[in-house]
Amino acid sequence: MNQITHWINGALDTSKPERSGDIYNPATGKVSKTVAFGNAATVDSAVTAATNAFSEWRHSSLTKRSQVLFSFRELVLQNKEKIAALITDEHGKVLSDAAGEVTRGLEVVEFACGIPHLLKGGYSEEVSTGVDVYSIRQALGPVAIISPFNFPAMVPMWFFPVAIACGNTVIVKPSEKDPSAAMFMAQLWKDAGLPDGVFNVVHGDKEVVDALLVHKGIKSISFVGSTPIARYVYETGTKSGKRVQALGGAKNHMVVLPDADLELAADAAINAGFGSAGERCMAISAIVAVEPIASALVARIKSRMANIKTGDGTQGSDMGPLVSAVHRDKVASYIEAGAKAGATLVVDGRDLKVAGDGFFLGPTLLDNVTPEMSVYTDEIFGPVLSILRVNTYDEALALVNSHEYGNGTAIFTNDGGAARRFQNEVEVGMVGINVPIPVPMAYYSFGGWKNSLFGDSHAHGTEGVHFFTRGKVITSRWLDPSHGGINLGFPQND
Ligand code: NAD
Repeated sequence: MNQITHWINGALDTSKPERSGDIYNPATGKVSKTVAFGNAATVDSAVTAATNAFSEWRHSSLTKRSQVLFSFRELVLQNKEKIAALITDEHGKVLSDAAGEVTRGLEVVEFACGIPHLLKGGYSEEVSTGVDVYSIRQALGPVAIISPFNFPAMVPMWFFPVAIACGNTVIVKPSEKDPSAAMFMAQLWKDAGLPDGVFNVVHGDKEVVDALLVHKGIKSISFVGSTPIARYVYETGTKSGKRVQALGGAKNHMVVLPDADLELAADAAINAGFGSAGERCMAISAIVAVEPIASALVARIKSRMANIKTGDGTQGSDMGPLVSAVHRDKVASYIEAGAKAGATLVVDGRDLKVAGDGFFLGPTLLDNVTPEMSVYTDEIFGPVLSILRVNTYDEALALVNSHEYGNGTAIFTNDGGAARRFQNEVEVGMVGINVPIPVPMAYYSFGGWKNSLFGDSHAHGTEGVHFFTRGKVITSRWLDPSHGGINLGFPQND
């Protein structure tokens, strides 16, 4: 059986792992590969490779770095379908969706190609007579990126193009459920001319993550995953002196005002609720319908759900399986809990039958959900849409703002004033106005508020460049024959 192993210093690690994990094809429910699980020694050898490569890479010219990024961009583009096939094989999402995540990741590579412009500093002449001040930004060193299962290509690509462009060296720890996309891209970096040791991949579970969090040679951690682990990573990483950005879970609300175009809102609810089987951190999972339109909206969503084809992601389906049997059962248990707590089960995805042992669960719609139900309080991360009925805009806003998560949200309305008020008042990091999945473009920064992000920096855009560099300010005076002699007073500018 195909075994995935670590990629360190531009080569596959051939040593026999002490532990390994199974990789499933979620559409068949069968183990298709295994993945080596690393330990502290694996991390140490990756950090050694990254440290050695850093001294050369940080001094490579900006032109050289952007040329390597341009080459990498071309190679990813040429191999997009192959990467998508790997993602579908291990994650389960349909092929078009897998290709879509590669495209969104590529946009960050394209952003990072502009690194010569992004790293420009400031310069002030004559801050004092004959004295100039200027600012530069410098790479950190070896940095670690720890990613979740749900975007095995795009999430690492939120970080590593910017990190590498800034002159850092990188160790990626992909999800152990779908590690092949990262491995494929490691080979593409080598083909693009990136020096060995600049991009490394280590695999494993908590053991390898813990080793990354405390290793003295690693300067920063970029983590994406569930909130309890994000909090743990933030606390452990910062305690050991690292810069950390840790993006966590989500519960994204879509507010539908009475004046909204209900056909548009129903389409958006379907696409954002059930795309990738709801396993997106920007998926819509709670629809807040402001009366009197709730029943009309529910009817429109229900009728569209009948047309969603759930099945193997390689066979032209709209929605694939969930990532694992355990996760499928957990999502199903939320449906049960919602119904028991009094929600109306409009469409029950558990009724879906797909031949074989794949981890399938059909799209589910729950109406009359109330704020204390677990189906609303918890992140479910599956194809389950909950409808909450409220009477006013203020009630809808209060609901969104009182939730522990603040990743994404959307408002559907034709009232510009209401939309503007919402964008101003809502306590969420990414807001859509008649756009259900408002994932920012690469030149803006991605990140949520509250328990959806621990740390101060969001991903990519200017914040990404700042995260992967340290600022330095230089005050300089060149030899001036008219120097003022000894003066022990604090420097002042005149
Ligand atoms: P996860 O937290 O289980 O795993 C994320 C990473 O942490 C993986 O690499 C995993 O190996 C590692 N890990 C797991 N348990 C660990 C432990 N006890 N100690 C140390 N490391 C551990 O998340 P997941 O199930 O892979 O991904 C789904 C979650 O990611 C959802 O909560 C989703 O909302 C979130 N997510 C958030 C964003 C965002 O932008 N905020 C984006 C994508 C996914």
